[in-house]
Amino acid sequence: MYDRILIRYGDLTLKGNNKKIFLNRIYQTVRNKFAKTSVTIEKTFDRMYIILNDESIEDCLKRLGTVCGLYSFSPAIKVESNLETIISSSIELLKDKIKEIVTFKVETKRANKNFPMTSPEISKAVSKEILKVLGGVLKVDVHNPEKTLRIDVKNEYTYLYLDEVFGLGGFPPGILGKGLLLISGGIDSPVAGFLAMKQGIEIECLHFESTPLTPIESAQKVIDLTAAISKYSLNNRIKLHMINFEKIHQLILKEVPESYMITIMRRIMYKIAALICEKDKISCIVNGESVGQVASQTLESIQVVNEVTNLPVIRPVVTYDKLEIIKIAKNIETFDISIRPFEDCCTVYVPKSPVTRPTLKRCLEIERKTDFSALIEEAVQNYKARYIEKDQGFDLISEGFIVSDIF
Ligand code: ATP
Ligand code: MG
Repeated sequence: MYDRILIRYGDLTLKGNNKKIFLNRIYQTVRNKFAKTSVTIEKTFDRMYIILNDESIEDCLKRLGTVCGLYSFSPAIKVESNLETIISSSIELLKDKIKEIVTFKVETKRANKNFPMTSPEISKAVSKEILKVLGGVLKVDVHNPEKTLRIDVKNEYTYLYLDEVFGLGGFPPGILGKGLLLISGGIDSPVAGFLAMKQGIEIECLHFESTPLTPIESAQKVIDLTAAISKYSLNNRIKLHMINFEKIHQLILKEVPESYMITIMRRIMYKIAALICEKDKISCIVNGESVGQVASQTLESIQVVNEVTNLPVIRPVVTYDKLEIIKIAKNIETFDISIRPFEDCCTVYVPKSPVTRPTLKRCLEIERKTDFSALIEEAVQNYKARYIEKDQGFDLISEGFIVSDIF
């Protein structure tokens, strides 16, 4: 019986002058999520409604669950603002719940001050009529009800709703600027990317791939992960930059002392990332580091790697433990992709015991001895990027492609 979904913006209403920009971005995002459906979108100054037309409410809620910056949603019905209609519709709504609940209460908000009753009077009158019909199964509990029927009396129309589903929260897509996500095939970096997006940072992804040293499946994972998180972006697509890292990787394996391989590898990755940011006007690097998780993620190690750039490096999962990260990865549907058993350049040929307290002095010594700058230059000149869309990843494997066929 619901004909619409009411959308609440939450936090956004606090943002003063930016509010208009924020709301326009939210509106644009919601419109993109509902492209090719038959819903209509109604916008008022503090809310938005999705008018379902023929679409299923579950599908619409799922789409809304991917819009960053939305606080909550309620399936709702719109009726004329007169007491009789409000009562009969309220009874219908609660009839639907009698198998699930015993206690309820009614709460009214009356914006229409011409309505001939006050809010408490409306709540009381409606509860009384509900009990006349459903009193055998339902009862009122004003302190701790299982369901609260909310009645918003506006001028011409009144909105009724019972359930509230929480959205992602955060800020609208891209409202705070752009970050370059260093994405691996692991569990952490896609989660970090999602969290950055949720907080209003638009992301582009950068992956260092070492095919044929590493299997093609590891590049495929990154394409699929990018496609999976692109559903949280403004346009359902994310730009993925692929850098072939094989030559650099080989040189590291040949020249760098084993315990410093990972540290040097990371320093080179960050140098290249910073150059790409400069080229593409991206204002921060985002990664999936979480302190203490592996040897390369001690504070000393982070510091030595970070030294190669002045750009802010945002680490959304830095203080999360693995279980917390996995929980989010499952929610955003990246977990199953991340655990496919293929290695990327950080897991193949890595030393058994990497240094946990690398020093800058030692890194600089190694980098003086082996000059990576020509290869770094070459990588930055030759890298390729393309947009990956939500429902349109690429299947390298079944097409028999190598990475350079599509990038
Ligand atoms: P993840 O689960 O994200 O792979 P991890 O716990 O395996 O993280 P590391 O392999 O040490 O940790 O990587 C730390 C971070 O470095 C990753 O989260 C990612 O941001 C970045 N990174 C690692 N490998 C690559 C790669 N091949 N291309 C781009 N970024 C990478
Ligand atoms: Mg990894």
